[in-house]
Amino acid sequence: MKAIKLLGHSKLRIEDVPDPVPDDQSVIVKVRATGVCGSELHGFKGDASHIGATLNGGHEVVGEIAWAPKGSAFKPGMRVGARVVQGCGQCNFCRQGDETACEQKKYYAADGHAELFKLGLQGVHVLPDDVDWPAAVLLSGDGLGVPVRCARRLGDTAGKKVVVLGLGPVGLSCVVVQAFRGAEVCGADVSPYRVKLAKELGAKEAVNVASESIQQRVAEWTKGQGADIVILCVARAESMALAFELVRRHGTVFQVAELQEANMKLGDWFLRKEAFLTGSWYYTSSDWPLMLQMHRAGLPYAKLVTHVMPLAKAQEAYDVFVAGETGKVVLRES
Ligand SMILES: [Zn+2]
Ligand SMILES: [Zn+2]
Repeated sequence: MKAIKLLGHSKLRIEDVPDPVPDDQSVIVKVRATGVCGSELHGFKGDASHIGATLNGGHEVVGEIAWAPKGSAFKPGMRVGARVVQGCGQCNFCRQGDETACEQKKYYAADGHAELFKLGLQGVHVLPDDVDWPAAVLLSGDGLGVPVRCARRLGDTAGKKVVVLGLGPVGLSCVVVQAFRGAEVCGADVSPYRVKLAKELGAKEAVNVASESIQQRVAEWTKGQGADIVILCVARAESMALAFELVRRHGTVFQVAELQEANMKLGDWFLRKEAFLTGSWYYTSSDWPLMLQMHRAGLPYAKLVTHVMPLAKAQEAYDVFVAGETGKVVLRES
């Protein structure tokens, strides 16, 4: 089969690789579409030293089941999406549907930008009939999964003022989810394209932080109080300090960005301001029902997909995504 290999230095190659080998714990999916995700960009842009022989980063996969083990709940031809972080199925976390907390979790996340994809049975989500392949990439993957898990952990945000810092696909998806749940949303980014898209997805306010002071805009918008919630969707250490500058006293900063370290002003943030900091990673089987429910209720997330390109044009797709003039970029079968 054909598969992408990320080579680092902003290059990739389409290679012929062996088909995945079936086993009784997995299905083989004929891939119809895959999402290009910000989490792959270190592999795309990096120096290639850490890139394994088959790693191509694809983990937001949808398609039809090509093969399923006998006696499983799945049949060839079923339209499915992939949850690629799966647990042991036995521990307390797994039993309550929080597989990302499982000590023995497994990843099926290395090689989804390909013609076929092997997926553990536990992570097979059967898609509703009324979703097309590009939108299904968001619906059944972390594109919607991360914002929905964030929303579940934040609880009722109706009427609250929520700032979303960073408007990549996950930030934009947080905008659409929070607006749909009745929050007043302010999106912020340096890309004029993404600032405009945030407005179209339901943001009341949208700030280009390259040309405008976000501190001033949020102060005016909240009458000097600060935002109730700031969702951090940009992995820059200084953005954590900005988030605590923008959040009100007793407010919440919620981290979804892959930010590993930041300087903390503990006294200012947690003593004087009595603010909260929490976050979430990926999504789990317990988030899937709400993802489906929001789809059925008309969540306009499909607008977030701005580019659909064939696998054969993957280099162009990554280049356009890196340039920042996109919402979600989806690769479809060639
Ligand atoms: Zn992703
Ligand atoms: Zn477990």
